[in-house]
Amino acid sequence: MRSLSVLGATGSIGASTLDVVARHPDRFRIGALAAHRNAAALAALCAKFRPELAVIADPACATELRERLRADGTHCRIESGPQALIEAAAGSHCDTVVAAIVGAAGLESTLAAARAGKRLLLANKEAVVMAGSLLKAALREGGGELLPLDSEHNAVFQCLPHRGGTLAAAGVRRIVLTASGGPFRGRSRSALAAITPDEACAHPNWRMGRKISVDSATLVNKGLEVIEAHHLFEAAPDCIEVVVHPQSLIHSLVEYIDGSLLAQLGQPDMRTAIAYALGWPQRIEAGVATLDLALAARLDFEKPDLDTFRGLALAYAALRAGGSAPIVLNAANEEAVAAFLAGRLPFLAIAETIERCLETAPPLAGNDLATILDADLTARRQAHRIIDTLSSRTPAHS
Ligand code: NAD
Ligand code: MG
Repeated sequence: MRSLSVLGATGSIGASTLDVVARHPDRFRIGALAAHRNAAALAALCAKFRPELAVIADPACATELRERLRADGTHCRIESGPQALIEAAAGSHCDTVVAAIVGAAGLESTLAAARAGKRLLLANKEAVVMAGSLLKAALREGGGELLPLDSEHNAVFQCLPHRGGTLAAAGVRRIVLTASGGPFRGRSRSALAAITPDEACAHPNWRMGRKISVDSATLVNKGLEVIEAHHLFEAAPDCIEVVVHPQSLIHSLVEYIDGSLLAQLGQPDMRTAIAYALGWPQRIEAGVATLDLALAARLDFEKPDLDTFRGLALAYAALRAGGSAPIVLNAANEEAVAAFLAGRLPFLAIAETIERCLETAPPLAGNDLATILDADLTARRQAHRIIDTLSSRTPAHS
């Protein structure tokens, strides 16, 4: 029996995880559930999954959570604040942590789970982008293992031999990450000027949280995934390629030196990747329908349009530049996406904000958490200044 802590339980990945968990009451129990500030949704999940610990990150929402759980007759320990997230990740109530908080807010709990030797099921890609080396050191220290939930990295993981050692020793030539191209694939820059948040969040193949949906529309998501793949698989930037595959049925591929390309296919449903990681090394039922290939009929591929969707090119540049550049890329993107979703910044200004922040990205003085958090904060301050300038220049959208 595995005991899980689900961080980001009220989100899209949290919901998919709990859907798989509910199919296997003999395999999994829930030790802790954590969310940001949606006390009603968290209380409903606690009533269903009966965790030992419920964490609401925002202390202002703790009273509401307590009252709701009392009204429901649900008994569990309730904590709030940043330290409680660490406790949810590293405490003895769990041996497995699903890191599914969105953004830099998930960094410290992800690191804590790794350091505590938990099996880490990682969706929170921003943590890897900000602190890939630190996360790997924490995993070594804790002696646990990391299983990627991001569908592309989960696919690559499934296509690699699990013998350890380098990619070169395994005969890998390159990793090919697939991208759907997002809702605006094929459009010109001028057609993107007046995009609204709802248009950007209407992904053709996947239902996800709003931040990652916007990231998919700008292709910044694929850029973050290139950096994530670099860290998770020790792959050089030149060995990671992105191909646009609009059907989202091939979730990624690994090419070997003999010319073989191994791909993982399946429905665009995160429960497949989640079930693979939950059950690993066994396969377990995920509730995902069979992929009828004759019905799907086509698998198309094209090169990404890096001129229109600057986000991907900027991420490659940040990865190659190293230092604080990936941290700056992530921080500027988080702030710009939040401004876009709030109606303050035009869609195309997201990439512009990132680019301007990257122009002045300083070297990183060290690789410790304090230095990383400092670089993150500095980049966010600069992003705010740039966003203020850009938002006064052009109206966001009507
Ligand atoms: P979401 O917005 O649906 O959910 C985010 C979750 O994080 C919520 O439970 C929210 O309460 C929690 N959260 C947000 N801010 C927090 C804070 N400050 N403290 C504590 N908790 C906080 O997002 P999502 O789509 O589920 O994505 C979660 C992560 O998984 C992201 O890093 C995303 O890039 C990654 N991911 C998502 C998908 C997907 O299909 N949704 C696929 C691959 C990777
Ligand atoms: Mg992905």
